[in-house]
Amino acid sequence: MKQYEAFLLDLDGTIYRGSQVIPEAVRFVQALKREQIPFLYLTNNSSATPQVIAERLTAMGLPTTEKEVYTSSLATAAFLRQRLAPGTPLYIIGEAGLRTALEQADFVVDDQQPQAVVIGIDRTFSYDKLAVASRAIRQGALFVATNGDAALPTERGLAPGNGSLVAAIRVASGVEPIVIGKPNKWVVDFALQRLGTKRERTLVVGDNLHTDIEAAANSGMDSLLVLTGFSTIDDAHEHPVRPTYTASDLWSWWTK
Ligand SMILES: [Mg+2]
Repeated sequence: MKQYEAFLLDLDGTIYRGSQVIPEAVRFVQALKREQIPFLYLTNNSSATPQVIAERLTAMGLPTTEKEVYTSSLATAAFLRQRLAPGTPLYIIGEAGLRTALEQADFVVDDQQPQAVVIGIDRTFSYDKLAVASRAIRQGALFVATNGDAALPTERGLAPGNGSLVAAIRVASGVEPIVIGKPNKWVVDFALQRLGTKRERTLVVGDNLHTDIEAAANSGMDSLLVLTGFSTIDDAHEHPVRPTYTASDLWSWWTK
């Protein structure tokens, strides 16, 4: 498995479950650090900044810096900067992770004449926000979503994810969004750019066939499905998109 010189690692179900790190994943990350193999944690999470995510991982017992975390919000900012000049006004529906990423990319918040409507999960989503967003999109603003996740795992079960909010705007505006997060290639491509490693020598790792493994395929990359989270081995046999490798956990794959 040493043919890979870098890794893009999903977080939830791959590195941790609930509030607990997965010991086999921690051992794998420690091996990467020992051998100075570059990696990024790659998450569809758009609500938290890389700093907050790094602090959470550190508190779980996996020391992490913000530079090791790449979110769908960072990828969304990178995507928009390829298309829009600094200072371009945007209408943003989302939380701190998205707002911070877009501000750091020198965009300006403006709900009057936005050139793009950008949406990440927003737990204060409202009819007013839906109305402003769909009006702007009907008037020609670009419609970009950090991710299309239908649901979010929480301690009380599944909660509505960003995809649910995006669906409301899609229906209200009659326009299909550009979706940056997994399973789409954008977030993987921008993360790879940040790593600076070769596509064919970088492995995408995750626990979800529908997001992680499909994202790898859409980006033309090899993938490893770990069975520590969402997808089961039976799912893997039935899913039309196959991972390059399947393993019970990261450490057993690494030491095979
Ligand atoms: Mg996951």
